[in-house]
Amino acid sequence: MPATFIQPEFRVKIDYDKCHKCGRCVQQCGWGVYDFNERPVPHDEKCRACHRCVTFCPAHCITIERNPLAYRENDNWSAPLRKAVWKQAETGGVLLTSMGNPQPYPRIFDHLLLDACQVTNPSIDPLREPMELRTYLGRKPDAVQVEPDGAGGYRLAEDGGMSRNIELATPIVFSPMSYGSVSLNVHKSLAMAAERCGILMNTGEGGLHEDLYPYQDHVIVQVASGRFGVGPDYLKRGAAIEIKIGQGAKPGIGGHLPGEKINKEVSSTRMIPQGTDAISPAPHHDIYSIEDLRQLIYALKEASGYKPVGVKIAAVHNVAAIASGIVRAGADYIYLDGFRGGTGAAPAVIRDHVGIPVEIAVAVVDQRLREEGIRNHASIVAAGSIRSSADVAKAIALGADVVAIGTAALIALGCHVCQSCHTGSCSWGITTQKPELTRRIDPEWGAERVSNLVHAWSHELQEILGALGVNAIESLRGSRERLRSIGLDEQTNRILGVKPAGM
Ligand code: SF4
Ligand code: SF4
Repeated sequence: MPATFIQPEFRVKIDYDKCHKCGRCVQQCGWGVYDFNERPVPHDEKCRACHRCVTFCPAHCITIERNPLAYRENDNWSAPLRKAVWKQAETGGVLLTSMGNPQPYPRIFDHLLLDACQVTNPSIDPLREPMELRTYLGRKPDAVQVEPDGAGGYRLAEDGGMSRNIELATPIVFSPMSYGSVSLNVHKSLAMAAERCGILMNTGEGGLHEDLYPYQDHVIVQVASGRFGVGPDYLKRGAAIEIKIGQGAKPGIGGHLPGEKINKEVSSTRMIPQGTDAISPAPHHDIYSIEDLRQLIYALKEASGYKPVGVKIAAVHNVAAIASGIVRAGADYIYLDGFRGGTGAAPAVIRDHVGIPVEIAVAVVDQRLREEGIRNHASIVAAGSIRSSADVAKAIALGADVVAIGTAALIALGCHVCQSCHTGSCSWGITTQKPELTRRIDPEWGAERVSNLVHAWSHELQEILGALGVNAIESLRGSRERLRSIGLDEQTNRILGVKPAGM
């Protein structure tokens, strides 16, 4: 019998007439696809189509194709389904995968169109008029208290009902990605970019490496169920603290970073022994009710000198009620992570079949908080496959204050979305701890690329605001009248609070 029924998914072709026989493809591949025997010899079965070799081949003589006849065509028993059955018949285990959900569910953002001004309401030229993208993360006051300033006027009373907010130069932050799941150089790139762009990066559940201390005013420190790296110093260093309850790519699932990725530095940052698996349980074992959550929120505020505390949840069916409870528990922001969110590793069945789209979650949470009169008690952060500035604008029009980008930032750093992060051998040096691979990301270069992305999207947001005839991003928030849907059913339109195009 053959050892496996699984055929190589890709074919690596080399035009040997053009090949320089330089061996660069052998060096560049993190998955060991190539042997070198007078010329490069590819082993198709190891190829992940990450395109590192294609990009770096000086002769441009490598092509990677789908293996067309590895699986006969069948609409019902698709190739991925047959491959999964064969893999599980061979291993008896849960299939792991990474990055976001690739299934062809409808993408609601692509069925929403933004409005524009024409004759009666003039549009604004963003090249000539100021456009305000600044936004504030945190609880807004119900009313402010003022006191006489002694000169016939008034000034804000001490504290004055204001909560501590974080100023963001543009309504974008980086999604939580832990040190361990990504390399330190990726964390440094994001931290430096956050500082340059006036926004925030997020440690994820991996703790804060001391190399990031200079950027701490631009870092959200996460407290997840594993409590990795959490201590008083960690809490005090962050600009804000985030309690991670759930993640869009794997709602209801904990985390697992294999011992091989826990090198000396990851171990000291996470405060766990070197070489041991880092397991974060699915639930927090001290949160079984909204009251428990409230206790933790206030314990973290107390421990950190009353920094803003947010709560991250995966978007699931009853998300509006959950969000209401979280806001009432005292969270300064609620982070909604849709079912297309990225991940370093997750069971494929969970990633591809659990959760709901972020577009729906943002709309119903914003609506519910407004109906309950508590919308200004917390900001909403939307995440889970924000792919462009248009997605940012649409998420904000649906009710978000801020969006978080993860996969887009990694793509800026070279990720080709080959969905193999869980192997720890990322050829692009992103989701790996192997020193020969991590050095492929130079933090200065990475920060430049990610900052460019944020600046480019910010310029485009200004263009969108100008077309809409508004001059501040705050004016777009929850402004669903400025959206129209195309190709969505009546019920989805009602849930989104959006009219169909033509109305
Ligand atoms: S990198 Fe390109 S040119 Fe160099 S050995 Fe590989 S295939 Fe040949
Ligand atoms: S981070 Fe690396 S391994 Fe993960 S999808 Fe991107 S290129 Fe592939």
